[in-house]
Amino acid sequence: MILILGGTAEGRELASALGGRGFVHSLAGRTSDPRAEGSVRSGGFGGVDGLVAYLRKNRITAVVDATHPFAAKMSRNAAAACAKARVRLVRLSRPGWAGHPDARGWHWVEGHADAAVAAARLGGPVLLTVGRLHTPDYAAALAEHEVVARVAEAPEVRLPAGWRLVRARGPFTVDGERKLFDGHGVRTLVTKDSGGEHTVAKLEVAAERGAHVVMIRRPPHPPGVMEVTNVAACLAWLG
Ligand code: NAP
Repeated sequence: MILILGGTAEGRELASALGGRGFVHSLAGRTSDPRAEGSVRSGGFGGVDGLVAYLRKNRITAVVDATHPFAAKMSRNAAAACAKARVRLVRLSRPGWAGHPDARGWHWVEGHADAAVAAARLGGPVLLTVGRLHTPDYAAALAEHEVVARVAEAPEVRLPAGWRLVRARGPFTVDGERKLFDGHGVRTLVTKDSGGEHTVAKLEVAAERGAHVVMIRRPPHPPGVMEVTNVAACLAWLG
């Protein structure tokens, strides 16, 4: 039995490619409409020990960590639990945007706190595309700025009164991003280095419009874990 740690397009793609093979697709259970089908389980395992117990109870023989590149805790827990339970583990992670032709002109920062400071310095209107959980991290630094916060689902905490919330889920098109940038006069874009094609259009439009890009670097992967960057390579690894 294969365990997919998902919550990403890659996790869904792998699940459909596995077809009739035995697998469980695990989601954190944070979104109300997770867009996953088939054999899905939802919610945390209860840390490393909980995951070790799950692997043993369900006779998991291989784990694919297809979580988002910024889901660092789950990746660390998977590495520790698989080592403990002696289960094979592969990290399926789309390449980041460091190789993008515009990457050298972006403002690379280490985390959300630094990104908020950089965005405040570069000036608004700021387009925040950092996800529901981290959007509130920018409230203090950008309270007096014009901010458009794009999220798939509204944050549970209240945001500064002047901010505009745009609810939308990728994939996003270049035309759609042009409308968003032009409609709000976006001058600074804040994004994580999520990589992939689904949300890359905003970078093209930022370049077109001469907007600043504040790019948050990926957290490091747990050392020693085999990594693949696409579903075909993952299937080959699974054998
Ligand atoms: P995280 O900080 O790395 O994980 C926090 C805890 O959530 C984990 O310790 C685990 O709880 C649980 N968890 C995370 N992913 C899980 C999964 N696939 N199945 C079961 N439990 C999971 O994760 P996060 O950044 O909050 O992301 C949560 C989910 O959203 C992930 O599935 C990720 O792929 C997806 N996602 C994240 C981002 C992002 O930017 N971080 C963006 C898009 C999608 P226990 O310790 O109890 O096991």
